[in-house]
Amino acid sequence: MKTTIAEVGKHVNESVTIGVWLHNKRSSGKIAFLQLRDGTGFIQGVIVKSVVGEELFEQAKHLNQETSLYVTGEIVEDKRSPLGYELQVTGFEIIQEAHDYPITPKEHGPEFLMDHRHLWLRSKKQHAIMKVRNEIIRATYEFFNDEGFVKIDPPILTGASAEGTTELFHTKYFDEDAYLSQSGQLYLEAAAMALGKVFSFGPTFRAEKSKTRRHLIEFWMIEPEMAFMDHDDSLVIQENYVQHLVQSVLKNCDMELDVLERDKEQLEKIKAPFPRITYDDAIEFLKKEGFEDIDWGDDFGAPHETAIAKAHDQPVFITHFPTEIKAFYMQPDPNNEKVALCADLIAPEGYGEIIGGSERIYDYELMKKRYEEHGLEGPAYEWYLQLREYGSVPHSGFGLGLERTVAWISGTEHIRETIPFPRLLNRLYP
Ligand code: ATP
Ligand code: MG
Ligand code: MG
Ligand code: MG
Repeated sequence: MKTTIAEVGKHVNESVTIGVWLHNKRSSGKIAFLQLRDGTGFIQGVIVKSVVGEELFEQAKHLNQETSLYVTGEIVEDKRSPLGYELQVTGFEIIQEAHDYPITPKEHGPEFLMDHRHLWLRSKKQHAIMKVRNEIIRATYEFFNDEGFVKIDPPILTGASAEGTTELFHTKYFDEDAYLSQSGQLYLEAAAMALGKVFSFGPTFRAEKSKTRRHLIEFWMIEPEMAFMDHDDSLVIQENYVQHLVQSVLKNCDMELDVLERDKEQLEKIKAPFPRITYDDAIEFLKKEGFEDIDWGDDFGAPHETAIAKAHDQPVFITHFPTEIKAFYMQPDPNNEKVALCADLIAPEGYGEIIGGSERIYDYELMKKRYEEHGLEGPAYEWYLQLREYGSVPHSGFGLGLERTVAWISGTEHIRETIPFPRLLNRLYP
């Protein structure tokens, strides 16, 4: 019977055939161990000379890495293996013999691996990271569907940007200028006024000129937007959502977290509500920690975020940033106009900012004033101001970076490994 590695538990003590690639092997005079993968998982195939005969055994011993084949054998329980089963091979048929697969089990440098990303994805570690990524996406849809959100797809080709123009990708839209989306937020606000609670999940593009282990040029963002919601209630949604992601990965990716050698105890601790500190407190804390360069009015960089994260074993909200360093649409705090009703969520263990969110200005006159201050004019922006004219209501939203979140939950040091084909400064291939 044909099956997959993920399904072998249903075929214990039965003979099955699986389409596989040879991942690795070792052999002695009488027995060979084949590490096999089929995309759904990894299994060890055991091939014994006295069972399969001299000829097939010799052929098995000389199989090359990444050769594709159909193997047939009996599934038996094996408590010692991570999967819990192994395959006692009775025969195989080669589909294509591979020669000189470039990624050998020995260590390769990151540039070599990035050049071979199309093949590197086959490794056990990359496979595990992609499975964690998939689980986070699945759990995202689950969470927002259960909370009554409607998924909305904002445009990718836009005439305006939400956050400023320095990191925008410019393109032509027939005779007009267009930009690749950096955030769907302005459109999501319009959608929230139509559907109440909405979220988007899509690619965003930023021409980030700096090389860091946290920034991609093309990354995926989950952006919920909620009508009739103040910032404090938005924080509750954020922490419940993040807790749900962590718990889903712990529940459904146990084997992958083992492959990644992720410290699961760190993840098991994650429990909402998360601590909240104000920007003012954060500045004071950083000064005490010896950061002399930071002053009120500065945005935080990676070392600052890491220092704050290391003082907590939960994700931390930093709230009430200065209005002047945040986007034009953020609602000022009624108790202190100099700061905005906003927060960044900093992941534990130094993985950096995973969420940025805020309450949005809903007063027409104030938004109009912001337009004048920021020189926002023309058809690209007029429609957004109009949202404040017809039954404007308090509303809030946030954006969670998928790859940052995958990096944190999977324990992956560099963001380039959290997306199948990363776009980085100086890297457009493969
Ligand atoms: P940072 O301060 O790290 O540059 P940001 O404040 O510019 O991030 P936002 O505009 O708030 O980012 O975007 C929302 C979320 O998108 C961030 O919290 C982060 O998780 C993610 N994000 C932002 N820029 C990138 C990037 N270049 N690559 C991957 N994820 C990103
Ligand atoms: Mg940035
Ligand atoms: Mg930031
Ligand atoms: Mg931010």
